[in-house]
Amino acid sequence: MKENLLGLTREEIERFVVSLGQKPFRGRQIMKWIYGKGVFDFDVMTDISVPLRDNLKEVACIEGIELAERVSSPDGSVKYAFRLSDGNIIESVLIFDASRVTVCLSSQVGCPLGCLFCATGKVGFVRNLTSGEIVDQIIQIKKDIPGKRVTNLVFMGMGEPLLNYDNLVRALRVITSEFGLSIGARHINVSTVGIPDRIRALADEGFRVKLAISLNATTNETRSRLMPINEKHPIEELLSAASYFARKSKRWVTFEYVLIRGINDSVEDASRLAGLIEDIPSKVNLIPYNPIEGVDLSRPSLEVVERFQRVLLDNHITATIRFSKGTAISAACGQLSGRLKKRN
Ligand code: SF4
Repeated sequence: MKENLLGLTREEIERFVVSLGQKPFRGRQIMKWIYGKGVFDFDVMTDISVPLRDNLKEVACIEGIELAERVSSPDGSVKYAFRLSDGNIIESVLIFDASRVTVCLSSQVGCPLGCLFCATGKVGFVRNLTSGEIVDQIIQIKKDIPGKRVTNLVFMGMGEPLLNYDNLVRALRVITSEFGLSIGARHINVSTVGIPDRIRALADEGFRVKLAISLNATTNETRSRLMPINEKHPIEELLSAASYFARKSKRWVTFEYVLIRGINDSVEDASRLAGLIEDIPSKVNLIPYNPIEGVDLSRPSLEVVERFQRVLLDNHITATIRFSKGTAISAACGQLSGRLKKRN
């Protein structure tokens, strides 16, 4: 079977070319073509000798994902559905915000965690993405915005990135490499429901990416109802790992808090939240719930959202309100792929 070079780290691709009798720098040249220029055809790699190109065509390939659908939103964001080589569909979103060009990436096909408020959770889990499938979302979207740079990445699409830890870390190595996509770790946000041992491991890797933890509740009872993973990793365990990450990476952790009417939006919740995180270098993103089909939850009024924020601010917790972009095209992650699947 041919070796797919897409998604290999610098060390892996260098090892591969050395196994073909070449010098390691040939690997870095190939990386520059793939990630710098989006070239997947060995014949176009003109600084590589013809005999080596012929050899590469025999033993290697550069196989990625394919655009299945592209939907633009009135707010300027663009949602992409990509077809994988096995026919599965994943989603990515491109978001323009002031000078930032952000890509929201998927890390799994579907997701095993079944959070109550999430469309992807309804799809169930199919499989992990390879590191190549993760990085190719960025390469394909870059091709769609010629002359512009992707400045920021968020792992907030389909899937739980820390459940696909090894491929996430390999993808991060390619993304941050000067021979890869050259995007600095401080512009990358990994969003997780919170798998404590993986949060610690990520801090120990030394990437210094940003971490966003989907907290969404202040008692284990409510959090377990919204997010079944909480049964396994309760709030106390999660916050201890968050604290470790913040200390080790010297980065503030962001707590994402989806506000749902009558479930987690009371003044008591806000005070409890302030108490839970007061010793962790962190900030809170408040996200008014975005209704999805078939889920009996609703969004609180703006007044309630602002009241919640006020309690946090009064307790010296940095808290912002974020209305998710791209809502006109996707009420939540997983909806476009769900629609495409139904059609197939
Ligand atoms: S919110 Fe994230 S972790 Fe929860 S089901 Fe959706 S994709 Fe999975």
